[in-house]
Order: sequence, then structure tokens, then C-alpha cells
Amino acid sequence: MRIDEALRAALANGLERADAFGLLQHLMGVERAWLIAHDDALLSPEQQAAFDVLRARRAAGEPLAYLVGYKEFHGLRLNVSTATLVPRPDTETLVDWALERLQALPPGARVVDLGTGSGAIALALKAARPDAEVWATDASPAALAVAQGNGEGLHLAVHWRLARSGDWFGSLGSERFDLIVSNPPYIAGQDPHLAALRHEPLTALTPGGDGLDDLRRLAAGASAHLRPGGWLLLEHGFDQADVVAGLLGIAGFAAPQHRFDLAGLRRCTGAAFRT
Ligand code: GLN
Repeated sequence: MRIDEALRAALANGLERADAFGLLQHLMGVERAWLIAHDDALLSPEQQAAFDVLRARRAAGEPLAYLVGYKEFHGLRLNVSTATLVPRPDTETLVDWALERLQALPPGARVVDLGTGSGAIALALKAARPDAEVWATDASPAALAVAQGNGEGLHLAVHWRLARSGDWFGSLGSERFDLIVSNPPYIAGQDPHLAALRHEPLTALTPGGDGLDDLRRLAAGASAHLRPGGWLLLEHGFDQADVVAGLLGIAGFAAPQHRFDLAGLRRCTGAAFRT
């Protein structure tokens, strides 16, 4: 079968174009531009069989990133596994905001990414600001291994720390930072959207209950690990911005601000600790 025939068959079966290209790129070890320029090239019988298997798995809901083993995030190619959440474009909003904060800080600023998963936020920050001292934690040893591997592959030095589950700050000792960032689990335990995310680690998606437990812990515990004037930036659900702003206010943070995701929703809330 030729590439153009394989693509046509996959699209006729309901596969999205980006997924079809992503799978073929992975199987043939080529870039998208090559596939387009050589769409009369033949898939080997093995490639065709593998394509059929992977497109069936994609149709059954497995994220493309797990099928090919990586995801692009903020200009970086990050390996992912089923132990890590797939990095979302919306989380680039949090990275951009953190970079904006870092711009106001002198070289060598200290930043920590709590619940780093594949290392996406920490590595994007280190790539953009090599002078910054970047730390990152996760409670999953398997996720932390993926993150560490990404750091090594990209030659980005991050201080990786294994956290205890539910204990967001324990692995930091008495360290203090200029910036704390986190994309914690924030989906409510009964949210119907969780069904569509069933291939991803549930503990990275939801703390159960109303979805706010980890955001509460982060807001309450952050100030003990912030330097004077330090900021806490949090990603959260599309309808949690006001609640998170309230949590920050209670915890002693000054006037909270928000940042919008690609859908125009208030996806991030953050503030400086009042000193
Ligand atoms: N933004 C993700 C989603 O809704 C969830 C990420 C998270 O819980 N931190 O698919």
C-alpha cells in the first residue's frame, strides 16, 4: 500500500489527519514534509500491519502521544509514558507566564515545578532560561524517571526530587524559591470528562471530591517555600479561577491575576506572597 492510500483509508475510517500523519511519521521514521513529498512511496507489509494496529488503538481512545512515545511541548520533544500525563498546549500558558515572571528576576532565579510529570514545565523553563535554577518534583517514581530521561536527552539540568504522595512540599526541605509553578490534578472526582482521559494516570488528573484538594494544599503551603516577593502560579480547571483566587487570598497572597488558555478561559491563577 502507498502512503497516500494508507492516509486515505485511515481518514475514511474516521482518524484525524494529524493522528494519521503522526502515526505514519513514527512508523516510517520521517518528517511530515517527507510523507507529503513522497506520498507514492510504499509502506512495507510490516509498516502497514503496524499502522492498522496503531490506528485501531487510536480509534479506541489512546492518546497519539502514548502510541508514538512523545509529545511536542513549548518547542521541546518530550518522551511520555502512561505514567505521565500528556503535556497539553494549555499548559504552555503557565510556562509563558512563568517566563514573564522570570524576566523580572535577575539571573540565577530559583523556580520549582511541583508535580512535573514528564518534566514539561520545568524543562521548558530551563530551556528558555538556562541561567535559572530549576527544581521539579513528582510523587510517581516512574514519572520522575521519564522526566529525568527527558532532561538528560535535552541536556537540561534540573534538580529532580521524588515527593511523597499528597505531600507537595516535603521533598523541598527548607528550600525557598522565587517562583513556584504547578499543574496539579484538578478535575472533580465525578467529572464525566474523566472517561475520555482513561488512558492517562488518574492520580495526575483528579484528587477526587470537588477537584480542589491539591490546589488547596498548594495555596496553603507555598509561602513557606517562597523568597520575599516570590510568586505562586497555578493551572486549574476552566471554572476554578475565582475559587483559586480566593484560596490564594486566604493564604496571604496579594491581588491574584489570571491568564487565559487557548480557548480564552481563565486557566491559570497566581499571585505574589505579601511580605
Ligand atoms: N487540562 C487537563 C484536561 O482537562 C487536566 C490536567 C490536570 O488535571 N492537571 O484534560
